Amino acid sequence: MKCLKCNRKAVIRSRIGYLCKDHFKEYYLNEIKKTIKKYNMFDENSRILVAVSGGKDSSALAYALNELGFKFEGLYINLEIKGYSEKCMKNVEELFDLLDKKLNIINVSDYGVKIRRVGPRNVCSVCGIVKRYLMNKFAYENKFDVLVTAHNLTDILSFFFNNLYSNTIEYFVKLDPVSERKDKLVKKVKPLFFITEKENLVFCIINKINFCSYRCPYSKGTTQLEWKKIILSIENVKKDIQYRLVRTLLNLKRNIKLKEEGYHFCKVCGYPTKSKDKICSFCKIKNYFKSFKDIKPVEE
Ligand code: AMP
Ligand code: ZN
Ligand code: ZN
Repeated sequence: MKCLKCNRKAVIRSRIGYLCKDHFKEYYLNEIKKTIKKYNMFDENSRILVAVSGGKDSSALAYALNELGFKFEGLYINLEIKGYSEKCMKNVEELFDLLDKKLNIINVSDYGVKIRRVGPRNVCSVCGIVKRYLMNKFAYENKFDVLVTAHNLTDILSFFFNNLYSNTIEYFVKLDPVSERKDKLVKKVKPLFFITEKENLVFCIINKINFCSYRCPYSKGTTQLEWKKIILSIENVKKDIQYRLVRTLLNLKRNIKLKEEGYHFCKVCGYPTKSKDKICSFCKIKNYFKSFKDIKPVEE
């Protein structure tokens, strides 16, 4: 296939059509730049913290932000998952060396938690709670203006499909490129909101960005992966389906009145929580490990 702009060999069928290597790179960086500007995410003067996992999405994002001339630091949370976390960490370290940017690394065990099943909470749910909490805590305590994550269009759409399917419409609220700073919750932004997973992969390949291609051992067979497969099969037929659906959903959300959920401050750590007993999920997980300190945890 030929690039729609210059007739050279195409490397990807993007949402605007087939593009060659150079025109894809130009399109990719421009889309991110437009999203950052449109949603007022940050500017050259902001103290920016980018949460990087070592995977293709966050590696592509860090590389792209550097190309766009932003100054930032990275945060890698070492989840201490055997045979996986060390490999990802190595990739992040190499990338930040190449970009000549400061990388902060924190270990979950230093915060008294492990990535394991905790009572009724499965391992992915524990991991999500721990990551969100530690990212915010680190960004807040180190006075960053904004926390940047690499959630992409395919993540957003699969999350949304899952909520439509499960009749959990209240999660609509989470579907936003920006969540503003409030009390001890730092501003969070998603510059890849309109970029698909495939586009991130191709951006890594054409720029020779090394990323960790190992999947987390716990991610096998998750519902998110099932939704992603479905999305990709529709995308084969309609190239811009992901973008169009998410754009429509954002519009729809604007017209739906959602009741604002109140929150309290955790009695233990002081960070915001929606929990009625005023103890946040992170502190509950931490407490679980404290009380089972001398008992060998059950492996998944
Ligand atoms: P996930 O919860 O795995 O979908 O990841 C959501 C976002 O969190 C990613 O796009 C990254 O920006 C960030 N992230 C995921 N894992 C890590 C990690 N181990 N350390 C730092 N940031 C991470
Ligand atoms: Zn071209
Ligand atoms: Zn707490």
